Amino acid sequence: MVLADLGRKLNAALQSLNRAPVVDEKVLDALLKEVCAALLESDVNVKLVAQLRQKVKTKVKAALESGADKGKEQNRRFVVQKAIFDELVQLVDPGIEPYKPKKGQPNVIMAVGLQGNGKTTTCTKLAVYYQKRGFKSCIVCADTFRAGAFDQTRQSATKAKVAYFGSYTETDPVTIAAQGVAKFKKERFDVIIVDTSGRHKQESELFREMVQIGEAVKPNMTVMILDASIGQAAEAQARAFKESADFGAIIVTKMDGHAKGGGAISAVAATKTPIIFLGVGEHLHDLERFSPQPFISKLLG
Ligand code: GDP
Repeated sequence: MVLADLGRKLNAALQSLNRAPVVDEKVLDALLKEVCAALLESDVNVKLVAQLRQKVKTKVKAALESGADKGKEQNRRFVVQKAIFDELVQLVDPGIEPYKPKKGQPNVIMAVGLQGNGKTTTCTKLAVYYQKRGFKSCIVCADTFRAGAFDQTRQSATKAKVAYFGSYTETDPVTIAAQGVAKFKKERFDVIIVDTSGRHKQESELFREMVQIGEAVKPNMTVMILDASIGQAAEAQARAFKESADFGAIIVTKMDGHAKGGGAISAVAATKTPIIFLGVGEHLHDLERFSPQPFISKLLG
């Protein structure tokens, strides 16, 4: 089920509460069943869904016992709806503030992720995002694994009018990363984005390389680029990367397509890492800032 359908289903479930003459345990159970089924169909981890069900029940029970409904059916509906809304927000909110780039100093952002996840595209989108907000931004292409990676960076950075660095001859990504970051630091860039190599699958060689690049450029923030369209696999992939790259933020790409999104949502809880942006298209400006509460509000329509 794609994300828009999830929103519609959740909304319909919450609306059904307004039609129930009384809000008792049976009604709450039926509502939670619908909510949980919709989340599971969207690839949200089964354990997270079970937790959500339990937490909502506990919250509603506690609120009603404390008399929050003041004996009124309408208030009881509100208690239930708020408990569900808050728990949906919790699903995408690990409660950790991501790094925020500051002007007048170099902010090194290292992007990691498997090939095809949208890393190179997202690096340019990020550079454009910060450039628009007055940060002098640039990209270092340290992807020497994929043929044509530097050409792709060169083309998209040129189109976006963003400075870039890379090499057609140097084969060591650590050297390129270190050289590029040193050059741009000297030139007083505010946001220096380092695009690293991907691979088709998780390999120890890739993880070793990420650690080495990380040691060489000492990023202020490492961002995992996660493809929403890979479904449940997103969670395992994020866990594996977290162990070696220890990223501090996630960008979920391809949220515009037929992605279910639940796998990426589960990756947040699995790695206790916040999502900072969503990729919503192939164009340079198709990047949306992510915040848990507005995201859930928008999802519910
Ligand atoms: P990389 O191998 O991780 O560097 O991936 P690329 O940046 O080359 O992207 C792989 C493909 O995904 C390209 O065709 C991109 O245009 C596409 N892509 C990246 N981000 C998005 C997104 O948010 N939405 C859509 N629809 N496509 C995207």
